[in-house]
Amino acid sequence: MASRSIETAGPQETESLGAQLARLLRRGDLVLIRGELGSGKTTLVRGAARELGVTGPVTSPTFSIGHRYEAPRVTVSHLDLYRLEALQDEEPDLLEDYLGDGRIAFVEWPPEAARELQGARMRVTLNHRGGDRRLIEVEEMAAGGKDGQER
Ligand code: ADP
Ligand code: MG
Repeated sequence: MASRSIETAGPQETESLGAQLARLLRRGDLVLIRGELGSGKTTLVRGAARELGVTGPVTSPTFSIGHRYEAPRVTVSHLDLYRLEALQDEEPDLLEDYLGDGRIAFVEWPPEAARELQGARMRVTLNHRGGDRRLIEVEEMAAGGKDGQER
């Protein structure tokens, strides 16, 4: 497992970091993203989604737990489980439509215990550092070879 911390000075830089991280990902990969409200989780996912070929707006899921973007080479899932944290045992299959197979999934507010979210490829934690600065920690796990495909 490799770990590093990067400080960004504005949303553009956080998007760029998201794009950089996206280049390390393969189909089937899962990325867990933690950090307070407004720390830049969705901003980072936006940069990653762009890099993966998503062209339309990338916004925070509001009426559902997630969005699925069909890019030419991969499906990008973006979930926000903020309101789900207490419900994990009631809806074990809820995440199935978003994870695995030909998808790359980004999950904000992942519940600690959810079995579906084990085996993440990357964990990202964002912290406010005053003004527009954010400290972003990236932990990269060894590729698990979930489906081993190139994207
Ligand atoms: P979250 O998903 O963590 O709630 P968002 O990405 O939706 O956060 O919002 C982050 C907000 O903070 C945006 O309004 C963004 O423009 C602003 N911002 C300021 N500086 C940064 C930075 N360095 N990285 C990311 N977002 C930043
Ligand atoms: Mg968000």
